[in-house]
This record gives sequence, C-alpha cells and structure tokens, in this order.
Amino acid sequence: MKIIMLGAPGAGKGTQAKMIAEKYHVPHISTGDIFRANIKNGTELGMEAKKYMDQGLLVPDELTVRILLDRVAQDDCANGYVLDGFPRTIPQAQVLDDELAKLGEKIDYAINVDVPDENIVNRMSGRRACIKCGATYHIAHVPPKKEGVCDVCGSELVLRDDDKPETVLNRLKVYHDQTQPLIDFYTAKGVLKTVDGTKDMQDVFQAVTDILG
Ligand code: ADP
Ligand code: ADP
Ligand code: ZN
Repeated sequence: MKIIMLGAPGAGKGTQAKMIAEKYHVPHISTGDIFRANIKNGTELGMEAKKYMDQGLLVPDELTVRILLDRVAQDDCANGYVLDGFPRTIPQAQVLDDELAKLGEKIDYAINVDVPDENIVNRMSGRRACIKCGATYHIAHVPPKKEGVCDVCGSELVLRDDDKPETVLNRLKVYHDQTQPLIDFYTAKGVLKTVDGTKDMQDVFQAVTDILG
C-alpha cells in the first residue's frame, strides 16, 4: 500500500502518518525528518537544505527528489510506505509517478488532511518535537506526560525554528502556491481522499482507516 499525506504545514500529516505506519506495517517516510537528521549530523545535504528551511521555503526539487527516490528504493519499502511531506510540488509528484510507472506501480491513496489556515498558526506554535526521536506533541492538544520531555525516549522537546509564527506564514503561502495544486493532480488520478483535520486526532484516524480499510 503506497500512501501520500497531503495538507498544510501543521495539518497533522505526521501525526496520522505515524499511526498509519504502525497499523498497516509500512515505513513512515518524512522528507522533513530526513532533512532535519542531516542538519543535526552536519552533512552537506543538511547545510544545503537548512538555507531553505529556515526561511520557510521549499528545498529545491532536484535535491529532494534524489533523497526520496533513494529512500523508497530500500528493502523495507517493498510492501509500500506512507509519504509525509512529499511530494510538495507538481514536478515532484510527476517524477514519483514516472518512477513508479516504470516499475508498474502507482500511488494507492493521497489523503488530504484538511485544516483551515486560521487553525494553523496555533497548531504550529504549540507543536513541540523531540530532538532525539522526532516524536511530536502539542502543548494543549497532545501534551507529553511530563512537560518538555519526550514520552517515547525521555529526551528534550523543542519548538522548531521554522514553527515560529513569522516563518509559518511564509510556509502557508508556499503551501497554497506550490503544494495545493497537488489536490487536483491526485483527484485527476482518482486517488484523492479528504479527511477533516480539525477533529480530534483519534477521530481523524478513524476517518483514515475507514478509507484504507
Ligand atoms: P511540516 O510537517 O510542518 O509541513 P516538514 O517537516 O514536512 O514540515 O518540512 C519542513 C521543511 O522541510 C519544509 O518547510 C521544507 O523547507 C522542507 N521540505 C520537506 N519536505 C520537502 C519537499 N518534499 N520538498 C521541498 N522541501 C521540503
Ligand atoms: P504536519 O506533519 O502536517 O506538519 P503534525 O502532525 O506535526 O503536522 O501536527 C502539527 C501539530 O498539531 C502538532 O503539535 C500535533 O501534536 C498537533 N496535532 C496533530 N493532529 C491534531 C489534531 N487532530 N488536533 C489537534 N492537534 C493536532
Ligand atoms: Zn523522543
């Protein structure tokens, strides 16, 4: 099963993708997480990506596509995957589609997690991410058991640099300009499913599993 998560930054793609990965036994692949891991490790890729991420801009397609195609070629992806944060542009979607077509494969579902812009800044300013394992929380909606500490691994939780309100507004603009057109792209392919992302995260997941079966 090959699944794509679509939605604005902070819509809850990562939250739902992690639950899908667990229930359906497919890897959760987040290009944002891959970039952040590279930044943390000080790789050349990380330094290049950081220039764009800090401004709320997209990392160039060429670089992003290369990373993603390498990742989905790994053995654990043989039975499918859930992509979180990729594709984010029409050219990215087109390359993915072409590469899958060469293998006689296709995306099965593109799940659009729909959350209006008004809710997004609140979602992002309350988001806290684990510096070590990448688990995400929300100070009001999805709090950790102990403030500032990851439930999963006990490491420190931080506000991502790019989750500050001024950068979030840029990211929302980039979303509307470059990513939202993917809704039409996947509708045309007959695989788009929309869920109401303003609901409680368990209710959103229920809607997702109703779709995936
Ligand atoms: P969020 O989940 O809040 O939308 P991500 O972790 O997916 O954020 O992405 C963080 C940043 O990483 C993006 O703002 C962008 O700079 C970069 N990025 C992640 N995925 C892509 C992609 N597919 N194409 C280009 N840039 C990306
Ligand atoms: P994305 O991957 O789309 O950027 P996340 O999954 O990281 O989004 O969620 C953004 C923030 O909103 C996080 O702080 C997360 O804990 C919180 N969140 C996710 N789903 C919900 C929900 N259904 N209701 C309220 N808050 C949510
Ligand atoms: Zn952790």
